[in-house]
Amino acid sequence: MTKKDSMENNAGDSEIAKRENAVYPTEFLQRFGYLPEPEPGVAYDSETKTNAIKEFQNMYHLEETGKLNAETIHAMTIPRCGIPDIISDEGSDDEKREIAKRYNTPGYKWTKNQLKWKMQNFWYADRMSESTQRQAITDAFALWSQVVPLDFQETTGKADLNLKFSTRNHGDGAENAFDGPNGVLAHAYFPENGELHYDAEEDWTDGVNKGINLKIVTAHELGHAIGLGHSNVQGALMAPYYAGYEENFKLRYDDILGAQTLYGGRAQDNPTSTTAPSTLPSTQPTKPATTPAPNPTTSIIPDPSNPETCNLVVKAVAQTHDQRIYFYVGDKMWRASDYGVDPGFPALISTAYEKPPSDVDAAVFSWKTYYTYFFKGSEVWVYYGFQLLVHKNELSSAFPSSPQAAFTSTDTGPIYLLKDNYLYQFDESTFDLAAGVTPKAIQEVFPNLPTPLNSILRLSSSPFLYVFSGNQYYKYDPASRKVLDGYPKPNKMWMGKTCGIPPFTPK
Ligand SMILES: [Zn+2]
Ligand SMILES: [Zn+2]
Repeated sequence: MTKKDSMENNAGDSEIAKRENAVYPTEFLQRFGYLPEPEPGVAYDSETKTNAIKEFQNMYHLEETGKLNAETIHAMTIPRCGIPDIISDEGSDDEKREIAKRYNTPGYKWTKNQLKWKMQNFWYADRMSESTQRQAITDAFALWSQVVPLDFQETTGKADLNLKFSTRNHGDGAENAFDGPNGVLAHAYFPENGELHYDAEEDWTDGVNKGINLKIVTAHELGHAIGLGHSNVQGALMAPYYAGYEENFKLRYDDILGAQTLYGGRAQDNPTSTTAPSTLPSTQPTKPATTPAPNPTTSIIPDPSNPETCNLVVKAVAQTHDQRIYFYVGDKMWRASDYGVDPGFPALISTAYEKPPSDVDAAVFSWKTYYTYFFKGSEVWVYYGFQLLVHKNELSSAFPSSPQAAFTSTDTGPIYLLKDNYLYQFDESTFDLAAGVTPKAIQEVFPNLPTPLNSILRLSSSPFLYVFSGNQYYKYDPASRKVLDGYPKPNKMWMGKTCGIPPFTPK
């Protein structure tokens, strides 16, 4: 290709762009909806370009610099879906374009619940047998039919959903032509079109850790075929890029919510709905357009009696969606920043969170799903911002009742629950113990972690674990497997002015 790309020249990153061969950032951002259709002879102004890059970085969970840095250009080379990420909406105003972490429903759905599907052709049978292909595709349909009242049936006659392998320009316009290995893997059209096309030049595989997994990509494209757009929730099936093979792949909560927004849930007593969390809302959930932050002057009722602040025993703690640190004790919470406890705190947990438990045993925020979890006894509460999504009060019998701590050790890693010196893994798609994962002794995974303890906190992007025990805390380094020198320190170090601690005191 010889098309000159004005954006990479302007950004001064042309050297990087050349190394990431075949990536044309302006073209990429246009194609996937981040930049509007170009007007002939008119260049994009720098604000438009910066905003487009920021939106892309948000979708791909990169630092939102608005600059075409190496990381951003690399992200454009990840194999992905051919459907645009930003579907322009005629009536949209600036506010509507504000990005929330969630699924996206562009506004199309099927008006019937019984849908017939058909393979127009199969991929090369010498590379994957037809029966394996059919099974992968059937499994992908089942992921959706388990959570929404849609029934899919294969037919040899006239079908609602037509699946086809093709190459390059395949009859739906030059702009939708496939591009050979990697790049765009597949695309599908919104209801009630029913066309789903695979790029036959990909290395389609089944059940192995190489190539492109046919079942997972089919499940993603079926998401479009039933009306879902792309989600900016990390780890969601409806994220625009291919995240690799995963054994026993399951829909994420964000995917389920998106589909149920369109079609509602399966009836609670329907035996086919066993993999859906039992308390999923069966009607359209209303999610906040943006994640709300508590406003201390209006939504938080100040509690003037806070003598316990400087000697707090931290039962549960998490850094959540608003980057603040929340200490949850009894029916109160303390919200802290680098300045210490925010004005208006402590406050009742119920002034911000919807129907919260009091005396939570453990709390954790997931940077993968943007959910906040409260654990108490054998129950779990799942929040998006402060909105209650799920309260699950029947967990598997092996669940560690009243865990001491809940935490992650990386932004993308699993949630651990700690109980009686054993670590359990929590599954964010079932909101229960991860199936098939054996609990491990804490000293095996995190040797020299101080115990007994009340709670564990890890800050976003940081490797260190803060271990709260009584009225003091330790800073533990998982890499060196030990507590850093100078610890423990008193818990009041987090509380700021109220306790005589200067702002930005290192923790
Ligand atoms: Zn897609
Ligand atoms: Zn096509």
